[in-house]
Amino acid sequence: MNNLKVKTTFFCTNCGAESPKWIGKCSSCGEWNTYTEEVVEKKSQTQEKEKIWKSAKSEKIIPKKLDEVGTLNTSRINTRDNELNRVLGGGLVQGSIILVGGQPGIGKSTLLLQMALQISTRVLYVSGEESEEQIKMRANRIGNQNKECFVYTDINVHNILKEAVKLEPNVIIIDSIQTLVSPYIDSTPGSISQVKECTGDLQRFAKETNIPVFIIGHINKEGGIAGPKLLEHIVDVVLQFEGDQHYAYRILRTLKNRFGSTDEIGIYAMDVHGLKEISNPSELLISPDDDQLSGSAIAASVEGLRPLLIETQALVSPSIYGTPQRSATGFDLRRLSMLLAVLEKRCGLPFGQNDVFLNIAGGIKVTDPSIDLAVVAALISSLHDIHISKKVCFAGEVGLSGEIRPVSRVEQRIQEAARLGFELIFISGYKSEILSKKNFNIEVKMLSRIDDLLRDVFA
Ligand SMILES: [Zn+2]
Repeated sequence: MNNLKVKTTFFCTNCGAESPKWIGKCSSCGEWNTYTEEVVEKKSQTQEKEKIWKSAKSEKIIPKKLDEVGTLNTSRINTRDNELNRVLGGGLVQGSIILVGGQPGIGKSTLLLQMALQISTRVLYVSGEESEEQIKMRANRIGNQNKECFVYTDINVHNILKEAVKLEPNVIIIDSIQTLVSPYIDSTPGSISQVKECTGDLQRFAKETNIPVFIIGHINKEGGIAGPKLLEHIVDVVLQFEGDQHYAYRILRTLKNRFGSTDEIGIYAMDVHGLKEISNPSELLISPDDDQLSGSAIAASVEGLRPLLIETQALVSPSIYGTPQRSATGFDLRRLSMLLAVLEKRCGLPFGQNDVFLNIAGGIKVTDPSIDLAVVAALISSLHDIHISKKVCFAGEVGLSGEIRPVSRVEQRIQEAARLGFELIFISGYKSEILSKKNFNIEVKMLSRIDDLLRDVFA
């Protein structure tokens, strides 16, 4: 009788925590109503799982003298993609497991298929999402250079690992973790217990065979990778592929890296042939200054470790309806509301009677607070219909009392602006004595408050 009973467990859909019974509030992450019931074990299967791969490469692990342990740097694989190498911390580490997350349709498969076709080593590309023919069509568009790129379409993680042992690839790509199933678990692909189990199998495989494994994971509505945060703890590296589907630019961000810094970003542009590496992103994110339109200002921003000059565009127009509209693309809407409130309160500018639309050029999501000053300049420019020269740029955070706060890496920003031929940069005047003594190939003006901006830029 008891044998017929199916074993189920409750999982938190936010963090992946387990509980034998349903609970309203997750004790692990504190979220409410996140627990769902899932079947975890097959009813007939309780004995020890068979070892599904006999690894040729794995050796028995015995205690070693620290002197005899090799360093990680010696075993990095060049992916032939400079941006990807950069975010991985200088290439792909043997035996590592890398999660590439992002919204569906953003280009994760293209990114990794392109790497599989460029890299000069044997790759196994496993897809549970597309047929072999669909992958072939995409590969033809990208241009196939790697004769050692194998495709395999299966969703059973044990079959995949058995094939991998036979093929002996040097890199494995899984597209995607949400399609995989373990035969030991009854729940559906994409459920938390399946994702957990399959990732665990892939992780053990990577460690024992020393073959690096890329896992593609779709981001859910809440922005978490593959649902459970738990995945992020299992893997060595978490990369996030970001961008707006309506624009060509994509940013590859490192959220976690056991083998390098998390400050690096990679920048790509998507076209019909795939993703192009952008080594000089600043020049691309600024539109030409032909039209002399108002409402646009350039921010000397830093994303990761890279300086990035980005155009901010604002449209301010009188509200037709009672409630003024606020809309922001690539910029936090609450932050925009805060900046508008500061402008209204500290400078008496009548944004309350106007609709405000803000856009960051290229569809790039900016996390650097230094973009505030350019946003404020673009807003005032549109309100007063005064054009700001495209030879001028801004770097400063705006505080609640209208003060302009200093930002990190200000010298790097100034140098990048100078390199790109800008003639004037506005920065915070706070603690800038050292900077004012330096010689830059660009005029540097210090501002303490937004009032100074009004005086110096819009007088
Ligand atoms: Zn939780």
